[in-house]
Amino acid sequence: METILVLAHTETDGLLAKAALEALGAAKTLGGTLIVGLVGENVQSSANSIASCGAAKFLGVTGPDFGQARYATDAAAAEAICKAAGATVVIAPATSRWNRVLAGVAHRLGGRADTHVTAITAANGVVSVNRWYYRQRMEAVLQRTQRPWVIALEAGCCEAWKGSAGSTTVEAVAVSLTDASKQTTVTGIRAPAADQQTIRPDAKLLLVAGAGWTKTQPDGKTHTDDAEKLILGFLRLTQASLGSSKSLVDLSGEGQAVLPFMSHLHQIGQTGATPRHPKGLSTCCHGEEPHTVGWRFVNERRAIDLNPNCGWARGKADVLYVADAFAVMTKLNELLATKK
Ligand SMILES: Cc1cc2nc3c(=O)[nH]c(=O)nc-3n(C[C@H](O)[C@H](O)[C@H](O)COP(=O)(O)OP(=O)(O)OC[C@H]3O[C@@H](n4cnc5c(N)ncnc54)[C@H](O)[C@@H]3O)c2cc1C
Repeated sequence: METILVLAHTETDGLLAKAALEALGAAKTLGGTLIVGLVGENVQSSANSIASCGAAKFLGVTGPDFGQARYATDAAAAEAICKAAGATVVIAPATSRWNRVLAGVAHRLGGRADTHVTAITAANGVVSVNRWYYRQRMEAVLQRTQRPWVIALEAGCCEAWKGSAGSTTVEAVAVSLTDASKQTTVTGIRAPAADQQTIRPDAKLLLVAGAGWTKTQPDGKTHTDDAEKLILGFLRLTQASLGSSKSLVDLSGEGQAVLPFMSHLHQIGQTGATPRHPKGLSTCCHGEEPHTVGWRFVNERRAIDLNPNCGWARGKADVLYVADAFAVMTKLNELLATKK
């Protein structure tokens, strides 16, 4: 029987991120002995928030040295907790903080690590993970005999654990740090203001903008100012996440006066991101295969395009509106505004 460790770190508010609760939710489906390991300046509130999860014990590495993301201290903390737990399987949310250290931790423990895991199952006590290859085109199911097996679980793939809070005891795991392991300091975080942040992984809806927004329209002119107002207006009204086709972000990157809020981080597709949202609406985008491969995990897909022969019409969308996106989005924003 496996000893399954859910390894999580606290966020800046001292609590657990949704991704950590998803890792816990996944671990709970596997059977075996469950142990929770927490890293952070203070982990008691986090432990209490999941007190009823059925863990055999809660382990914690705490103190000011573990409040910030830093390879040396995070790796040492994770290694110590894995050893203290005697874990054979370690499930960690694939946060940027953990993604940096998990492979190194597995190496130190003589184990193996798998990243970008999208599902974990167990049948007859044998744990398997799912992982996509070749830019989300092929899915493999893997098992390993080597232990410990460190698994970085992608966010948004599993049901988050839900249960009542309580109070629990956290066993402290000691980690001795050298001065050298503390020489990196996070001096601040640079992030766009909340209302300028248009990539929202937890949004219910993804709006994709394609290059058509910047193309010459039937009146012989381009209307990028209108495009900007319509797209940003829709995002403001719906709090949707914004994605883009490669063509549009390439235009922005080339310094043309296009849509200044677009960056390569918005690109969806074969060489872009593969976000997970319940719904997606594509506008002014042709629906080419390298782009739509990034829509694989969007459950309900709709598109607006002038061209009835675009890729969306060939099975890439559930609904295609053959229409002018400027007109449709203007009307849509009006309707949304009246609902506010
Ligand atoms: C190896 C490789 C990897 C790639 N990876 C990616 C990737 O990761 N992501 C990606 O996006 N692309 C990728 N591409 C590029 C991809 O093949 C397409 O070229 C690109 O996605 C096209 O972008 P687009 O549909 O926005 O632009 P276009 O093909 O120019 O289409 C614009 C669309 O807008 C429509 N339109 C114009 N005006 C309006 C209007 N008023 N109302 C409604 N519709 C309008 C037009 O009918 C047209 O269909 C890759 C290509 C290769 C070769």
